[in-house]
Amino acid sequence: MSSYDVIVIGSGPGGYVCAIRCAQLGLKAAVVEGRETLGGTCLNIGCIPSKALLHASHMLHEAEHNFAAMGLKGKSPSVDWAQMQEYKKDTIGQNTKGIEFLFKKNKIDWLKGWGSIPEAGKVKVGDEVHEAKTIIVASGSEPSSLPGIEIDQKVVVDSEGALSLPKVPKKMVVIGAGVIGLELGSVYSRLGSEVQVIEFLDHITPGMDAETSKVFQRTLKKQGIDFTLGAAVQSVSATKTKAKVTYKLRKDDSEATVDADVVLVATGRKPYTDGLGLEALGVKMSDRGQIEVDGQYRTNVPGILAIGDAIAGPMLAHKAEDEGMAAAEVAAGKHGHVNYGVIPGVIYTHPEVSNVGATEEDLKEAGRAYKVGKFSFMGNGRAKANFAGDGFVKILADAETDRILGAHIIGPMAGDLIHEICVAMEFGASAQDLAMTCHAHPTYSEAVREAALACGDGAIHA
Ligand code: FAD
Repeated sequence: MSSYDVIVIGSGPGGYVCAIRCAQLGLKAAVVEGRETLGGTCLNIGCIPSKALLHASHMLHEAEHNFAAMGLKGKSPSVDWAQMQEYKKDTIGQNTKGIEFLFKKNKIDWLKGWGSIPEAGKVKVGDEVHEAKTIIVASGSEPSSLPGIEIDQKVVVDSEGALSLPKVPKKMVVIGAGVIGLELGSVYSRLGSEVQVIEFLDHITPGMDAETSKVFQRTLKKQGIDFTLGAAVQSVSATKTKAKVTYKLRKDDSEATVDADVVLVATGRKPYTDGLGLEALGVKMSDRGQIEVDGQYRTNVPGILAIGDAIAGPMLAHKAEDEGMAAAEVAAGKHGHVNYGVIPGVIYTHPEVSNVGATEEDLKEAGRAYKVGKFSFMGNGRAKANFAGDGFVKILADAETDRILGAHIIGPMAGDLIHEICVAMEFGASAQDLAMTCHAHPTYSEAVREAALACGDGAIHA
């Protein structure tokens, strides 16, 4: 038996970041992880492998669509799927090994195996019981399917199966037009699959600023992705090599069936807390299976904290990381803080889509007077040069005070551009503050400044 100040259960972005911060704050920390490698969903079967496939397939798209126009001639590359999978695995390996290195550097023990909490202050891993003053649950989440749909990870897959298909399917049906479905749908569409997305709602990307969502859907449609919206999937039946998806259109109750080689069920994720023993300890859980915590990540059982996908809030790696750092502060007897009003969201398609803060719909609902500063990437010299003029930056600012309340970007590097607006919001900046900041030319960032200018006297290149 070993004794620690903190034992973290789960080594995803919430857990590993938490453990590193604990060590930096002088606490003796260990992490329990049952997977073969560190890094959780994000590094092994989530953010990182999906971005590797998005990058590779985007390169192919560029070669097929834009190279010739730039004077780069020659045969377009063909897809070696096995090699692309190797590239993906190598990317994962570099990242998971990086966490192992950071654990060694920070003297964090990796307790290998699946952990449970027999009582507060104790964590059981295999036959060993370890002691900890604070236990932090960072056990993450798992895909949630629709009732009656069986995932076989061959023909009917969730996101994990979709990252490792044996071959690029001819026809893929994606159930659910959220971030994961659209990112993976984009990958296969670019690699040559016919992709049909079936969504229950009448629009894609629930929760996104409506104008941005519409432009995003139009852009994906132009790229060849087919959308069936307002459709409730009734059943999915599969043989060893084919599947049939039956859905009912909500507007007139008409039923239709489509064939597919692969069906990707991307209908959301749910917290994963199996086997931890939380029920026996009396840890309070919500109806949705999330561990309930107070503003300092403490559950109702003293000495047990929880963070990341296992608690409420957006299921995002960076949200988990920030909570990990905050919970470490709490374990060290300090105060932890996460500003939930400034958590960016990014979709890594091409173009990328990003957002932070309020949508126009939020502000209308709250009855808040606001102004919109919008700038199209068509007016941005760099974007035009790079065939990336589709999309815009939209900044929402308070009508009276000019304080930035939210931003929505669809366009090149939107996932990076959003951060200058995040920083501005953290500092309570006005749109004018951003507009008066000199931006280098020629950069995509100039479009952000132009949108800020558009909140005031007007953009220059509009
Ligand atoms: P996880 O990363 O899920 O890690 C939890 C870990 O705990 C797992 O490794 C699990 O094995 C371990 N564990 C659980 N129970 C036990 C136990 N009892 N004992 C030992 N170990 C245990 N988010 C983004 O921000 N950006 C993206 O681009 C993005 N892309 C994604 C793409 C896909 C395909 C998917 C599926 C997710 C994506 N996400 C993305 C979401 C992101 O992966 C999660 O929000 C993030 O991983 C949550 O981190 P976490 O630390 O809470 O949990």
